[in-house]
Amino acid sequence: MKIGIPKGLLYYKYYPFIQTFFTELGAEIVISPDTNKDILDDGVKYCVDDACVPIKIFHGHVVALKDKCDMIFIPRIMELRKQEFICPKFCGLTEMIINDIPDLPVLLGEPIYATTRKGLKKWAVKTGRSITKNRIKINKALKLALEAQEKYKTLLNNEGLQFKVALVGHPYNIYDVFLNMNLVKKLNKLGIGVITEEFVDEAQINLSVSKLFKKPFWTFARNSYGFSTYLSENNEVDGIIYISSFSCGIDSVVVELIKDKIKDFPMLILKIDEHTGEAGFDTRLEAFSDMLERRCVEYENNLS
Ligand code: SF4
Repeated sequence: MKIGIPKGLLYYKYYPFIQTFFTELGAEIVISPDTNKDILDDGVKYCVDDACVPIKIFHGHVVALKDKCDMIFIPRIMELRKQEFICPKFCGLTEMIINDIPDLPVLLGEPIYATTRKGLKKWAVKTGRSITKNRIKINKALKLALEAQEKYKTLLNNEGLQFKVALVGHPYNIYDVFLNMNLVKKLNKLGIGVITEEFVDEAQINLSVSKLFKKPFWTFARNSYGFSTYLSENNEVDGIIYISSFSCGIDSVVVELIKDKIKDFPMLILKIDEHTGEAGFDTRLEAFSDMLERRCVEYENNLS
C-alpha cells in the first residue's frame, strides 16, 4: 500500500507525526518533491483562481502524487486548540481537492480534531482502517507518531547578525523556500537574522492576546499577534517581517491588529502570490534593511 504525502501546508510542522503514523501502519510512503515551478503551475491550473497561493501549491503537490500511490493523505486539520480553527480552506480541503483534480486515487481526508487524545484517536481509527483492520497496530502507530512529533519543533533563530527581526506568518509561508523565494537566506545576506514564534513562551503569547477586545478564533493568527506584539513591546527585535498570502482573509485581519498595536515600530508586510516577482521582493527587503540601518544611526546620534 503506497500512501502519498503532499509536501505542502502544515507538512512542514507535522511531518514527523504524519510519516511515523503511516509507516507504523505498514504503508510505504511517497512524499511529493520540494515545491518547484511545475508544482506551482499545476496548482494554479487545477485550483480555483481566488484561493491563496499555499492552497494552490498544495493542489500541485497532490497532482505530483496522484499517479504514484494508492491513497493520498489530506491534512484536513480542523482544530489544534479548543474552539480555535486554522482556516475555512483547511476545513473544506478534501472537498476542494476532490472537485478540482480529476482521476484521483482514494483520499484519506478525515477531519482532524487534535485538541484531545480522544479526537485524534477517532481520526487515527477512521484513517488507519483503510490500511489495516488491526486496532492494536493503529493505536500503537498513533502513540509513536505523537512521540515523534513531541521531539520535533520547527524553529528559526539566527544569532550573530547585525539586526534581528520577528518572522511572522503561517508555517508554510515561512518554511517553504520556493514559496517565500528563500526569504531567510536573503535576509541573512543583508545582515538580518530572524526569530520565529516558537521562542516565545505560550504564556507570553496568551498574555498579549488577552489584551485584544475579542478572543481570536484562528490559531495561527493568535500566535502571530501574540508573538510579534510581545517582542516589539519588549524591544527584543529590531523589526517585524510578516509574510502573508495574497487573498488570505486571516492574514489581512491580523496584520491590521498588529499594526494598530505596535504603532511606529518597523514592520514590513510581504504579500505573496503566484505572480510575485523576485526583483521587486528583493528591492523591498533592501529598503527595509536600509531603514533599520538609518534607525540605528539615528538612535546612536541621539545617545551621543
Ligand atoms: S490561512 Fe490564509 S494562507 Fe493559510 S490556507 Fe487559509 S487563506 Fe490560505
